[in-house]
Amino acid sequence: MAVLFSGAVAEAGTGGVRGPGTPRMTWRSQRVNGKAASHHPMRSLPRYVPGEVIVEFRGQLPAGAQERIARSVDGQVRHLIPGLNQQVVTLSSSADPLAASERLSASPGVIAAEPNWIYEPLEVIPNDPAFDDQWGLSNTGQIHAITDPPPASAQGVADADADVSDAWSVTQGSPETVIAILDTGVDLSHPDLSPNLWVNTGETAANGIDDDGNGYVDDIDGYDFLRNDPSPQDNAVGHGSHVAGIVAAAANNAIGGAGVCPACKLMILRAGDDGGFPLDTTLEAIVYAVENGADIINMSLGGPVWSKLLRKALTSAGDNGVLVVAAAGNSDRDNDQLYYLPGGDPFAPEYPASHDLPNVISVAASNDRDRYGYFTGCDLAGGGAECSFTNWGHTSVDLAAPGVDIVSTYLSGGYATSNGSSMSAPFVSGVAGLVLSQNPSYTPLQVKNAILNSVDHPQDLAGGFTVTSGRLNAQGALAGSTANATPRTDGTMADAASINSRKNGSLSFPTDLNDIYKKRLRAGKRYAVLLDVPRRADYDIFVWKPGAADTWPIDYRCGGFGCLLQDRAVRGKGKDEYLEFTARKRGTYYFHVTDFTGRGSYTLVVGAPS
Ligand code: CA
Ligand code: CA
Repeated sequence: MAVLFSGAVAEAGTGGVRGPGTPRMTWRSQRVNGKAASHHPMRSLPRYVPGEVIVEFRGQLPAGAQERIARSVDGQVRHLIPGLNQQVVTLSSSADPLAASERLSASPGVIAAEPNWIYEPLEVIPNDPAFDDQWGLSNTGQIHAITDPPPASAQGVADADADVSDAWSVTQGSPETVIAILDTGVDLSHPDLSPNLWVNTGETAANGIDDDGNGYVDDIDGYDFLRNDPSPQDNAVGHGSHVAGIVAAAANNAIGGAGVCPACKLMILRAGDDGGFPLDTTLEAIVYAVENGADIINMSLGGPVWSKLLRKALTSAGDNGVLVVAAAGNSDRDNDQLYYLPGGDPFAPEYPASHDLPNVISVAASNDRDRYGYFTGCDLAGGGAECSFTNWGHTSVDLAAPGVDIVSTYLSGGYATSNGSSMSAPFVSGVAGLVLSQNPSYTPLQVKNAILNSVDHPQDLAGGFTVTSGRLNAQGALAGSTANATPRTDGTMADAASINSRKNGSLSFPTDLNDIYKKRLRAGKRYAVLLDVPRRADYDIFVWKPGAADTWPIDYRCGGFGCLLQDRAVRGKGKDEYLEFTARKRGTYYFHVTDFTGRGSYTLVVGAPS
């Protein structure tokens, strides 16, 4: 393992050091009312598989060209990720995958190259096996088991639920609706899961033959991409077993509980374990889901790295009619914002949840009283800690769904109670399954809109901490409007406003943290950028190169900023920000004004250096 990304810990109250050039100590949570956060989960930069990079080659390369390009970094082409024209390239043991992938990216024969990033299962350690009180499906204010005793039970507020049992009077889903669980596998023989496993009817089990010619031998219920084995069995982790049961545990079978979409089918894609989810197996699983008939992919995993390759795979899934539901993360932080770790490394928001794509839904966790995370609304008493544990984001997180004290299936035929946005995403995947079963012609965006347009608006979720400020409602989603539910924002690259030479704007927490402008620049020309920052505020300016996407495309191959950002030649002029750079190639550049602390009006000027 390269030591570059050894785990760094940032505790609330000690703060993170700002990025290059502007050291500063503060967390978002400290500036809202000065109250120190009580706990922050450990944060660390992304990990990657040692000795490997993933390379997307251009098509039509002459024979042997891929091997020649790989040899330029002393690498060898190892295996193809089917359907994506991407190869896993192995390096010598001493090679640095970050540097190698950056060098490969510069080759004319290469579209993209990245380390084999590792995403983490977004888990909260489960315990307390329990069978009853699935308050997220129907909350009558009953006393139910909780994850963290004492006390051993809690009582929520009636109707602070996803109205799932109400939706069941209309539909419990359809076996034609297939929901892929991209996770740690499941307990395949669990009596509450086995009846609802998707079956690959083109395949004959255990005959050692790829009967349906899809590239995978004996893949009956899905596949184990980690072990390259047909059986995606969840042996020891339990994460995938829990997630799968929330989506579609069998109903009316007199055992255990019930999933949100109990008549839907579960395609089991084992792409990771408690050691994480490598990018290559994650990409393979996404392609498998798309090519073998999944309608929805649940991704209760994430990491602080923006991957062009993962973004392309998710985009391709959308182009092929597949919806992706992702957990927003469990770091009680704002996915609209960049953080810094001690030492100055930028800490990106949670991906894949923060990929700004029409077929991706990002889900925060709410509890049995319709509050974020464990206890309360983020708006009541401050920032991060009060959202504990769930991530939020006015632009980047779509809605909340039950994610505290969630009972579901577990290892060895058992049940367990867990917390996390990992539990919230499968509630949304299940409801998406219900919506799609009821409306089979819907596109991923129509399903997303129906869900987002029909949320409930409990008071404690108000304040703009998500796109909808709402909580999932299954019954409403079945008849939800498919009108656009995602308002345009100037806080993403996709919706960036044009700037000629000067723009006035304003920012405020939490609803307007980013203003992104775009302008076509000429190759070889030098530019100056001045950001006039309001008093008592700390705003930053970033310039992103052509090809940047989403809001925070942090790329650790180049120390976080180098690959997609121009060199930051920042000169302090009081609190204003100023930088100069040479546009190395012609294209659309992005001028990103972001609110680190404070609020108010700014002026941004782009022009020639004086
Ligand atoms: Ca097969
Ligand atoms: Ca077979």
